Amino acid sequence: MLFLPIAKFAGFSTSVPFPSFSSMMSQILCFFVIEDFYHYWMHRLFHWGPLYKAIHKVHHEFTAPSGIATEYAHPLETLVFVLGVILGPLSFCYYFRNVHVISMFFWITFKLCQSVEAHSGYDIPFSISYFFPLWANPDHHDYHHMAFVNNFASSFIVWDRLFGTDIKYQAYRNKRIQTKSKLPDVDLLDAFNLKIKKIIKIIDNTSKI
Ligand SMILES: [Zn+2]
Ligand SMILES: [Zn+2]
Repeated sequence: MLFLPIAKFAGFSTSVPFPSFSSMMSQILCFFVIEDFYHYWMHRLFHWGPLYKAIHKVHHEFTAPSGIATEYAHPLETLVFVLGVILGPLSFCYYFRNVHVISMFFWITFKLCQSVEAHSGYDIPFSISYFFPLWANPDHHDYHHMAFVNNFASSFIVWDRLFGTDIKYQAYRNKRIQTKSKLPDVDLLDAFNLKIKKIIKIIDNTSKI
């Protein structure tokens, strides 16, 4: 109810026509970069002993998170990270005065989807990371929850690479790839057929009794 008056007060445009698709998407990309840079440093700060114990530990109760765990955090942490979400749009509004509420709507939707994907634990085959290599695969944040170190950024892999906070993650990833390459290839179809044959055999044996 208060969103529209606040948005108008902050300088967001609410009139028609809506901005073009390209200008909306380029703005949203900038919002992602600004938010992720802010998120990286705030998240790193939250891993400082006293702040971790008092605030961030709540979010780390999940060592293998699921999508909904993205919202599971101390209220102060939520507030700090929400500030990062509105930082980009507010800065654009202040400097350029050309942010439409519809861009804000899409930005928040995309950001939520990104956060849920990062916590999902699923390596989704159509994830943006497969088309855009700088985008963080869910594996990136999954490692952070598992190891409590490295990978402080949320959307991009750039900041961790740049500031050297993905060294342990890279070593873990390389080790996993090497172990995987040593394992014999399992034909999924063969394994499935074998399982079906076993089930049929069990049913046959049961019906004979
Ligand atoms: Zn953390
Ligand atoms: Zn998390």
